[in-house]
Amino acid sequence: MSNKILLVEDEEHIRKFIKINLERDGFSVREADSGEKGLEIIRQENIDVVVLDIMLPGIDGFEVCKVLRKEFPRVGVIMLTAKSQDIDKIMGLEYGTDDYMVKPFNPLELVLRVKSLLRRMETITVGQVDIIEDGPFKINKYSRRFYKNNKDVELTPTEYSIMKLFIENPGKAFTRDEILNTVWGYDFVGDPKIVDVNIRRLRSKIETSPSNPNYIETVWGVGYRWKGN
Ligand code: CA
Repeated sequence: MSNKILLVEDEEHIRKFIKINLERDGFSVREADSGEKGLEIIRQENIDVVVLDIMLPGIDGFEVCKVLRKEFPRVGVIMLTAKSQDIDKIMGLEYGTDDYMVKPFNPLELVLRVKSLLRRMETITVGQVDIIEDGPFKINKYSRRFYKNNKDVELTPTEYSIMKLFIENPGKAFTRDEILNTVWGYDFVGDPKIVDVNIRRLRSKIETSPSNPNYIETVWGVGYRWKGN
């Protein structure tokens, strides 16, 4: 079954242009010309990745993203922005975007990012170990669920991938570049701050005291390390 991508963009020529490129790669594409319509589609269909423009009539992309993250935390979200000053907001803690692109962009680059995001969302193949436990934490690689004290912690696809990398490599200090390369999985053109933002979000979800983390340590001058239990 092909992955289903939802395009939320009011400008028809941009939408069509992206759609053609995604379909060429075998994706099944749904289109919405407003945020309201986009939410309607995602509530009815199984969407894997949402490509979400910020400037929309009615509710804007930020509002859509907030609702998405609340109702569908495990769906991948790539935001499109025309203004570079939006980047800090996009990467902000509130929205949990997996990736973003600044307009104008090469549609082939967007296709690469969609593929990379889908790789982050892939479940493991049969035969591998499904479950890793580490202290109060448990990761189920088959269902892509993450638990703390047996309670389901809802992670975005990107947060899950970082968590998986950590828990499979306890004690290892990762540089931001290593995390970017492993999790985003392509030559990342953009702000490595996206790693820090995701770490902050992860800490707020799994640490008892996020500002004084016990599990995800900052390794000064390097990056981050999962302390292990
Ligand atoms: Ca637009």
